[in-house]
Amino acid sequence: MSRLVMKFGGTSVADLARIRNVALKVKREVDRGHQVAVVLSAMAGETNKLVAWARELSPLHDAREYDTVVSSGEQVTVGLLAIALQHLGVPARSWLGWQLPIHTSGMHGSAAITGIETKEIEARLAQGQVAVVAGFQGLGPDNRITTLGRGGSDTSAVAIAAALKADRCDIYTDVDGVYTTDPRITPKARKLDRISYEEMLEMASLGAKVLQTRSVELAMIHRVRVQVLSSFEDLPGTLVCDEDEIVEQQLVSGIAYSRDEAKITLVRVPDKPGVAAAIFGPLADGGINVDMIVQNTSEDGKFTDMTFTVGRAEFERAIHIIERNQSSIGYQKLLTDKGVAKVSVIGVGMRAHAGVAQAMFKTLAEKGINIQVISTSEIKISVLIAAEFTDTAVRALHTTYGLDK
Ligand code: ASP
Ligand code: MG
Repeated sequence: MSRLVMKFGGTSVADLARIRNVALKVKREVDRGHQVAVVLSAMAGETNKLVAWARELSPLHDAREYDTVVSSGEQVTVGLLAIALQHLGVPARSWLGWQLPIHTSGMHGSAAITGIETKEIEARLAQGQVAVVAGFQGLGPDNRITTLGRGGSDTSAVAIAAALKADRCDIYTDVDGVYTTDPRITPKARKLDRISYEEMLEMASLGAKVLQTRSVELAMIHRVRVQVLSSFEDLPGTLVCDEDEIVEQQLVSGIAYSRDEAKITLVRVPDKPGVAAAIFGPLADGGINVDMIVQNTSEDGKFTDMTFTVGRAEFERAIHIIERNQSSIGYQKLLTDKGVAKVSVIGVGMRAHAGVAQAMFKTLAEKGINIQVISTSEIKISVLIAAEFTDTAVRALHTTYGLDK
């Protein structure tokens, strides 16, 4: 017997027929003798609707009331699933975030889980009762409902799995696993049987949208084995696990891309100590995440061009901050480009092998694709290119690293 957390996303609970389907899947695990806690999202589209309502009434709405409203979608689905399970003869009880409680920080709208009290549901799991827990929500220090940020129910599920010391956290979704790259770009993309936490973290933060990035961080920290699988097919998915559990490690496991990038160049900034701090300090204070950075020094050594990227959603704010600090930074001209994309190759295998970057640069050169910015870490190489070449670059790199089906 083992203890499982099963998480179902919005498309998996989108209507009553699908909720019945979820109940059958849960029943099957119960019949196999497992203890099961289920974590649910709201019905697909429901949270969007609730967010829109809050915004429509007041663009500057109170974040506490926003949470009261947008957390309500999950209350509906957990209650319905508990009813569906009971109808099948499976003992089940729903739990809202405040009822356990799931403690969170006070950052309404994007709260972080700080602790979960599991005593009550552990006792019930031991009696064979299924716990159906509302994802995406918790209880803040102000004793009010909080939400964890969009897509947050993945994080709820992993946190609950960690707190319950579950043997596995199965994330049921509308895709059947994690792929070597986006199958919409190349039909040669393959489903991975396993991927390490480190690689999944890069994939998630670099644009693969299967799991919320924070849920992967949490899984890595607490070593929760996470399986991503389809709720519409009966097939094993992709296991996100420790590197040691992966026998045949590939050099490169996946190619990720993101079109949500924007490039900013400050032309002719005085090249002297403190200039990077003068640029990136105010951006950091403004909560802007700067990603890739390159700096070129001019021939006379007096000036430098500073190029960096930010998320497209933060672009306008970033420009505003830079312009406001024009005099302290001292740049001469501001160039911007929203027509860029970031393409990344990811693999823990590259830690021990040289030449992975070179293969990437050669492949792009052969396709006539110009690299604008490069950034690397131990297990990934990212390049910034013109957005129109994204698909070509992804396909070519997928072939270069032997990932084609
Ligand atoms: N229902 C929430 C959202 O749409 C949480 C989730 O689905 O993970 O963001
Ligand atoms: Mg989701």
